Amino acid sequence: MTQKIEIEEKVLSENDKIAAEIRKRMKEKNIISLNLVSSPGSGKTSLLEKTLSELKDKINMALIAGDVQTENDANRLIKAGGNMVKPIVTGGACHLDAKMVAQALNEMNLDKVKLLFIENVGNLVCPSSYDLGEDMKVALISATEGDDKPLKYPAMFRRAGIIVINKIDLLGLSDFDMDRVKKNALQINGNLKIFETSCRTGAGLDKWFDWLRNLV
Ligand code: MG
Ligand code: ZN
Repeated sequence: MTQKIEIEEKVLSENDKIAAEIRKRMKEKNIISLNLVSSPGSGKTSLLEKTLSELKDKINMALIAGDVQTENDANRLIKAGGNMVKPIVTGGACHLDAKMVAQALNEMNLDKVKLLFIENVGNLVCPSSYDLGEDMKVALISATEGDDKPLKYPAMFRRAGIIVINKIDLLGLSDFDMDRVKKNALQINGNLKIFETSCRTGAGLDKWFDWLRNLV
């Protein structure tokens, strides 16, 4: 009987290789990067607008706004005070990949940047499998969605470090149940840090801002 030692060789996919290069580069530059993911319309751009309004004079931020079509989100972020905003129009792809992000970063001056936000395409499926070299994925859910989202898209919530439950000003107007969504999310990933916000009224945003200040 021959004993066979199987050595499993982990071959990084092309995307993961580029993501690893991005991660290394961001680390060398001391830039923290957050990849914002959610369904369309959960409030990623709104959260970034509020974040810019509050922190743009305190933290040097760069933002990448991914969308299938239009530069609408990038334009909103510029209007909210973002001085380093780069749109990525995927032209059909339903997620950002590391190559797109690397190209965008090459066209940005990152010298003084402390915090990089990447707003992904609105989609909870494939953005979960594309590493963009970020430090953490931030997943948004809003009170207008189903509170079973974490159960339906477990890969995303497993890979996220944070969830932001947005549009809490609308709680009570639908069957969305705050306790249930939190329970569902923590069932998938017990390490999730949870923020509850309303980008419309500003409720809960202070905790998010504090967390960002501590992060950088
Ligand atoms: Mg958006
Ligand atoms: Zn996709």
